[in-house]
Amino acid sequence: MRRVAGRVYVPDAQGRYRPYRALWVKEGRVAGLEPGQGEGEVVLPGFHDAHVHIWKIGQLLTDLLDLRGVGSLEALKRLLQERDRLLPPGAWVLGRGWNEALLGAWPTRAFLDGILPHRPVLLTRTCAHIHVANTQALRAAGIGPDTPSPPGGEVRYEEGLLLERAYGLLERAMPRRTVEDYQRYVLAGAHHLLSRGITSALEAGADPLLLEAYRRLDREGRLPLRVSVLAVVRPDGEETTYPLPEPYRSERLVVAGVKFFADGGLSGASAAVSRPYREVGGKGVLRLSAGELFELALPAHERGFFVATHAIGDVAILEVLEAYHRLYQARPLPVRHRLEHFGLPGPKALSLARALGVWAVPQPIFLEELRENFLRYLPQEFLPRCYPLARMARAGLSLAFSSDAPVVREVSPLKGALAAGRPLMGRGIPLARALFYYTQPEASGLPPAWLWPGHKADLAVWDRDPFRHPEEARVVRVEVDGAAVFTA
Ligand SMILES: [Zn+2]
Repeated sequence: MRRVAGRVYVPDAQGRYRPYRALWVKEGRVAGLEPGQGEGEVVLPGFHDAHVHIWKIGQLLTDLLDLRGVGSLEALKRLLQERDRLLPPGAWVLGRGWNEALLGAWPTRAFLDGILPHRPVLLTRTCAHIHVANTQALRAAGIGPDTPSPPGGEVRYEEGLLLERAYGLLERAMPRRTVEDYQRYVLAGAHHLLSRGITSALEAGADPLLLEAYRRLDREGRLPLRVSVLAVVRPDGEETTYPLPEPYRSERLVVAGVKFFADGGLSGASAAVSRPYREVGGKGVLRLSAGELFELALPAHERGFFVATHAIGDVAILEVLEAYHRLYQARPLPVRHRLEHFGLPGPKALSLARALGVWAVPQPIFLEELRENFLRYLPQEFLPRCYPLARMARAGLSLAFSSDAPVVREVSPLKGALAAGRPLMGRGIPLARALFYYTQPEASGLPPAWLWPGHKADLAVWDRDPFRHPEEARVVRVEVDGAAVFTA
């Protein structure tokens, strides 16, 4: 038995944090709590990020040039030259996260050729839908001035720009990711999550190779935190369908859910909405109707998988809820499906989601990092219902908060919880409540982790009290199963 003394915060059944002066740990589980006020280390249950792309975070931290926040073409040039010196001859330079609004201009093929004419370069915009390549990269893919644009995409050879599905032309020529690459990325991403106090997470979309990487890491005992992996059945922008994965459940790894996409995003004005966007016009793209989603999801539902569907616009959300309603009617099973993002729900969607008992998985940090995009594109009447977290809570929804990183920069649940207090309009969610919504592993098919006696000893130790000093508090140590997996 080990005693962890200090100021230990544990939520009660209503999600209100109560202070204790110590916690007892035995064989990886909480054995007991000592009531009372304590001083010293501040301990909270480890957080759960209910929708994050762990491997992509890891890839950004290792093989990719992280271009998020780069503020000028000159700075971009320096980063490219630095990377060039580290790579063997002929290797591709791959980067992600540039934003022309910050750079002050669009990067072009000529710009890239001027810096690195001798190796292929491909840089992906922050939205992941637009890419710029140099001549070497385009040549490697057989793309020239006369290459026609594929359906659903656009090649702009002069600028070196590839839009939407035109990326597929280039992807074929790029070095293939291996299962070992994926393992490296997952471990780098996992370490980053731990550093923010996260002890479990949902990997929000995996192809069969990534699933294999996770299984191998788990079998080798190398996963430092708990992960639930969502299997992608219908890959984004492709016609092929992968078979349902084999269900998998161990102490650290769970494969119990499948992922679908019902629409696009708000920052690029492609979420399916009922009123036209400002500036760009249009009502976004509905990728799956209720009937189509029902057909696709029924085999997963029948086998007990939870279904997690990306739905942001009000139109897409209602289609998904209708599909879930039909699934439960066809086969009344206890599995709880999920709505990923749930960006623009109207009153009808809130009550339907509540009635069906599904999980809503929004990203409070979007309110901060994508705020300008929301204010720019959304019709005025949508602003009060854009990620209306307080309304979701009042409607009695099951909420699990998440980051969707690396779509956004910030993974920290503490930063996300602060953003939950600052909606576009109206009231926000108090910090302690928001942190409780970042502690909902059950939404991902993982056991509850609130440091109640009998729960796993998954915890984060903070240098100061996050409730009192949310802007400054830092994680100093993280334990999973009562063993240290991260130390600052
Ligand atoms: Zn995502």
